[in-house]
Amino acid sequence: MERVEAKDYVFHRDFTKEYPMIVRAEGVYLYDEQGNRYLDASSGAIAANLGHGVTEIAEAMAEQAKTAGFVHTLRFETKVLHELAAEIGKMAPAPLNRVYFTSGGSEANESAMKLARQYHRDRGKLEKHIVIGRWQGYHGNTLGSLSAGGDIKRRQPYTPNLAKFEHIYSPYCHRCPYSRTEEICQREKRMPCAEELERLVKEIGPEFVSSFICEPIVGSQQGAVVPPKGYLQRVREICDQYEIVLIIDEVMTGFGRTGTDFAIEQFGVVPDIITFGKGVSAGYAPLAGMIVSDQIVESLVANGNGRFIHGYTFSGHPVSVAAGLAAVRYYKQKNVLANGKEQGEYLFQRLRDLQKRHSSMGQIRGKGLLVGFELLADRSRDQLFPPSFGAADRLNHEALKRGAVFYPGAGTIDGVNGDHLLIGPPLTITREEIDELVAILDQSLAAFEEQVY
Ligand code: PLP
Repeated sequence: MERVEAKDYVFHRDFTKEYPMIVRAEGVYLYDEQGNRYLDASSGAIAANLGHGVTEIAEAMAEQAKTAGFVHTLRFETKVLHELAAEIGKMAPAPLNRVYFTSGGSEANESAMKLARQYHRDRGKLEKHIVIGRWQGYHGNTLGSLSAGGDIKRRQPYTPNLAKFEHIYSPYCHRCPYSRTEEICQREKRMPCAEELERLVKEIGPEFVSSFICEPIVGSQQGAVVPPKGYLQRVREICDQYEIVLIIDEVMTGFGRTGTDFAIEQFGVVPDIITFGKGVSAGYAPLAGMIVSDQIVESLVANGNGRFIHGYTFSGHPVSVAAGLAAVRYYKQKNVLANGKEQGEYLFQRLRDLQKRHSSMGQIRGKGLLVGFELLADRSRDQLFPPSFGAADRLNHEALKRGAVFYPGAGTIDGVNGDHLLIGPPLTITREEIDELVAILDQSLAAFEEQVY
């Protein structure tokens, strides 16, 4: 291949596509070199929660880069790291108090699953090592995180490399894999989707099971599906009964995305570890991590010589941490969560109106400003698109042409079938900008439906 331009040296994420070149970003908008404007209706990958161009964050990063651009956390401490840990530790439900930093969500989940294993091992439970995840979960693309998640398309090429983790189905009451309804489960006070965890633990042998990992609200894989009342409580009970570390992956849902600091607060459950990423630095720098219960940390000190046998070069990178500290303060000072919640309710209501005009819009769900809807070939017959049609990508393409970018997803139901669109604009979005987002979505759905019907 002849290399003519600088871009010919880039290992692109998808060599079959060309993307607009972004030269500027401000608020909820991205601008390309042709002067086109895109409303960022997915905050990038649900990361830019504060929108673009926040000078307080940029300045904090520059200041830290000038003060001490890199500090190896195996040898030294920094003040910004202490301060951000304290902010996050206070935000999380007690007794989750200790904060460990990584660069991305995949690394955060790797760290959590390894810490769970070390916790059991330090306490003499040498056989406890198996991780249970869910088929509709996504926890990242590194081999361990990919093994924990269930995205069939992402897993498929690497099947021989994946670790032998176990999986159960996520609750999806609208299309229950156990052919039940939420009403039946609530009436009978029994949820097969949660009981499956106990059945699987018994089948494997509780002495081998180390941790269970799940998202509180499933983001990229299902498009903001909220679990039924009592599901996460039952999961907590099962984990307690069989001494399984409960890891709640809040990489997408954390830092106000669903209306509260962490989504898990809304379900009345306290996990053993929360992982976070994306919104912590509002996307300004690679930053993620985990918040760990006192019990696990005390065991590490008492039984494991105080050392977590793990770590990355960029764990607690001072410039990333400075971005995180400035972002976390900005969320608080500008009352960003309240705005996100209010605009989320407004968006929900506007989508319900839109649904009356668009027969391709199926169930709308979500919390706060993490909202999704199913895409259907025919809502009156509840008919899905064939996976080969690439419905969600097509709709997003129409939106991109009209100046908005969403987060399309496929494999909603079982990793292969079903399409959805995830919507998660910056939590700072205004009502007028939501109106613009909905207007573009309206036109995009009309163009998309013309291709279909
Ligand atoms: N966990 C969840 C719930 C996510 O949504 C993601 C990314 O989309 C990850 C983990 C992986 O995070 P990262 O891409 O930062 O490694």
